[in-house]
Amino acid sequence: MTSLEEYIKKFEERTKKYIPPRSEWGPVEKALYGVKDIYRVDLKEAKELRFKAIKFQFSRQYEKNRFYRKLCKSQNIAPDDIKTEDDFKKIPLLEDRFFKSYPEGRDFALWIANIYTGDLPDILISKRNPRIDDVLREFNQKGLKIFYSSGTSGRHTFIPRDEKTFNRAIYGAAKGFASMAYPNLDFERVRGYLSLYVKNINLFAGIMGGMLSGLLKHVDYGIVLNIEVTTNMLQAAMRGRRNLIVRLASLYIDWRRTRKFITWLKERYNNKDDIALLGAPFFLNHIMNLLEKKEMYFDFGERSFIVTGGGWKVRENVRITTKEFREKAERVLGIPQTNCLDAYGMVEGNGFAFHCPEGHYLHLPYSFYYPMVIGKDGEKIEYGETGRFAFLDALADSYPGFIISGDEVKLLEHCPVCDRPGPVLEPEIKRARGEEVRGCAEEIRRMLSIGSR
Ligand SMILES: [Zn+2]
Repeated sequence: MTSLEEYIKKFEERTKKYIPPRSEWGPVEKALYGVKDIYRVDLKEAKELRFKAIKFQFSRQYEKNRFYRKLCKSQNIAPDDIKTEDDFKKIPLLEDRFFKSYPEGRDFALWIANIYTGDLPDILISKRNPRIDDVLREFNQKGLKIFYSSGTSGRHTFIPRDEKTFNRAIYGAAKGFASMAYPNLDFERVRGYLSLYVKNINLFAGIMGGMLSGLLKHVDYGIVLNIEVTTNMLQAAMRGRRNLIVRLASLYIDWRRTRKFITWLKERYNNKDDIALLGAPFFLNHIMNLLEKKEMYFDFGERSFIVTGGGWKVRENVRITTKEFREKAERVLGIPQTNCLDAYGMVEGNGFAFHCPEGHYLHLPYSFYYPMVIGKDGEKIEYGETGRFAFLDALADSYPGFIISGDEVKLLEHCPVCDRPGPVLEPEIKRARGEEVRGCAEEIRRMLSIGSR
């Protein structure tokens, strides 16, 4: 068995392009890059790292983001007021809907500039009435990554990430997976599979894809689409409006991708390879159902993994539980339930929670991420009570990452099953009442209309 030291060394080797030189590390880098297993950092050490990283980031946002400073001033809070962790609750939070409150046309670029912390690259927009996608394209060409996500209302959430913030998010997600998959994951041997890969995509789902391709030596792709997914296309899909051609095209893509996936599985199995599948639960579930119908069973074993993300809706009004999914994976693919790991993250944040193999609770990366639950009156509530998920994210340089989400969660101080020391979320996360349906898997599901037939 590889020791954790050796394992992390291999991990750093694989992800080195995301790690800045040590000489440039500040409190944020130390809290992310300087720890080994991110879910097993000693509590005292983690609290110290986190306090420094979040205080540093809060001061940075206060100084460099005019709009956020105004918000702080209106609430009478300044960086000097943050003296201990207990003061974290004073840090002004942004509601997730704030990132949806954009104007159309030329003003959209200004709106992004207001959210953005730091020096925004200059862009030139020649059209008199630019569409949102025109503005996004210009920013993206200048190296900024404006991620978006969409809910059923058709409003998008836009989050601007600079390279530094983006690299931290990818590295953190990869480290989350690697930490939970220790010691059975062999980065150099295992063959990863992404069944659908869309180039030029700035949907948040892309971060997880980037995570896998960055981490593993071998990654195969099913269908690669070289199309621009515009905000209009996404909006139409989320609202359930699509024309016949789009519908037929998506059926065709789905048919090809299913066939390719099954062929790939057979090849890997005959080759005695270990595999790591990354995908949205609805699609992997759909593949496993097909295999079971054809009575095709595999036995990939304990060095193979499934990583899911993006939400657990498989059809309109139908959710599959993570437990049903794991049982199916064990039965059909022979991948042990301990190796089916779900990830939880959102477009507004850069910290990913991963399932622990033992109990499948969602462990939060507590050396750089401070989780909270907010009750109905807008105040922070205790562990064990249900409310809205909120967090202070030290990794966000390019926007203020102090956010209240629309997800309803229960936060526990420790995992009831495993011995990892940090806080966890109960595994089944739903949207809070009155919040629209959202999630990366849901976007892709609607774009491809799988399950709605
Ligand atoms: Zn656990």
